[in-house]
Amino acid sequence: MLFLDITDTDFDRQFSAILNRSEETSAQVLETVRGIITDVRTRGDEALIDYTNRFDRLNLTDAAGLEIGRQEVEAAVAAVPAEDLAALKLAVERVARFHEKQKSQTWLSTEEPDILLGQKVTPLDRVGIYVPGGKASYPSSVIMNAVPARVAGVREIIMVCPTPGGEINPAVLAAAHLSGVHRIFRVGGAQAVAALACGTATIPRVDKVTGPGNIYVATAKQLVFGQVGIDMIAGPSEILVINDGTGTPAHIAADLLSQAEHDELASSILITTDRSFGEAVAAEVEYQLGQLSRESIARASWEKFGAIIVAGSLEEAAAFSNRIAPEHLELAVADPFGLLPRITNAGAIFMGHWTPEAAGDYLAGPNHTLPTGGTARFFSPLSVDDFVKKSSIISFSEQGLKRLGNDIVRIAGLEGLEAHGKSVGIRLGLG
Ligand code: NAD
Repeated sequence: MLFLDITDTDFDRQFSAILNRSEETSAQVLETVRGIITDVRTRGDEALIDYTNRFDRLNLTDAAGLEIGRQEVEAAVAAVPAEDLAALKLAVERVARFHEKQKSQTWLSTEEPDILLGQKVTPLDRVGIYVPGGKASYPSSVIMNAVPARVAGVREIIMVCPTPGGEINPAVLAAAHLSGVHRIFRVGGAQAVAALACGTATIPRVDKVTGPGNIYVATAKQLVFGQVGIDMIAGPSEILVINDGTGTPAHIAADLLSQAEHDELASSILITTDRSFGEAVAAEVEYQLGQLSRESIARASWEKFGAIIVAGSLEEAAAFSNRIAPEHLELAVADPFGLLPRITNAGAIFMGHWTPEAAGDYLAGPNHTLPTGGTARFFSPLSVDDFVKKSSIISFSEQGLKRLGNDIVRIAGLEGLEAHGKSVGIRLGLG
């Protein structure tokens, strides 16, 4: 873990290891994923069965085994303890309510005489949701991807999820059931993304693929982009906490570790205006690390990509945070709303001492799929907008075309596109 003062002369050099921690896509991974995509495109289900048996240790013999049927889903829902099911239901309801507010409507404007302009909003027809399942399973990922798609009005939501050794967490299937997923397939990795993008006899081709995954999944999404839409390429997770010396060091330490336990490449950073508070957090992190079941992952992440930084002022801390553009930003300060106007780059902002980031991970309502690796400078959280497309509407009456026709012809002339001009001229009798 780095303990730095923001005024240290070689601050940038020391900090650069954290900024540049993203997993490079090696030539080897790129070649493997290209091969898998080509194979799925050519051999379809047969390739899916081969890769699934090989990477997820299944013994599938025919394509029918790729789909998780309704009975299996119902059995899973019944196997989930009632209190767990109630928590998942609460999350689905709250996430749905929040995303309902994001819906944009088709609109038509008649503010000009003889010309009607507007925008038609149409849900995507079919989307594919990747739910990672190689090393752990994530019911919350199901909810955060499927619910916005359902709220947007997507006709068919297809979910893919690897089932290593044939096992799948019943909570993942229950979350899919509660969120409105229509069909589920037990495939993962690059082959699942390829199947969604190209379609096979068993897995229907989708319009967009969303959801996180490992380097094989992320690389496959990059390679099929254009043929289908994708949401974003999620890098390793990160949290940045801004603190002014108020609050409880143990709370901040717990929040930093809630990111560190995700992944050895995750990064957890505290920037505080109070050096002794920073020292207390460092001691607390050490103490709490020893109590975690995922200690080895969290420790590796904290030791390599953790940092505590002392800043001269909250303004300086906010400027630093804007430079990082963190995925998760906690304003653990006495007056978070006073600081908020200074924040320009962040995926999700958690306000005050009683809003741990985990609240947003699961059921506050906003989406937990957030831009990582500094991309919050230009990307937004996953939303209902990711599951609709917009068409422009243009309607001129004869009067409208007469009013604007000459200028259309003039601009067509500037571009040397004579036929464009003529399509207007022929209607207006301009010769
Ligand atoms: P995964 O489902 O992404 O990957 C498992 C699949 O990877 C396997 O089914 C296999 O097909 C493929 N694979 C594994 N080794 C391979 C090889 N040598 N060659 C070709 N393909 C291979 O599951 P995972 O591995 O557990 O990774 C999940 C990732 O998702 C983690 O990085 C985790 O941090 C991330 N995640 C992110 C979020 C988020 O919101 N950002 C949420 C949950 C998970």
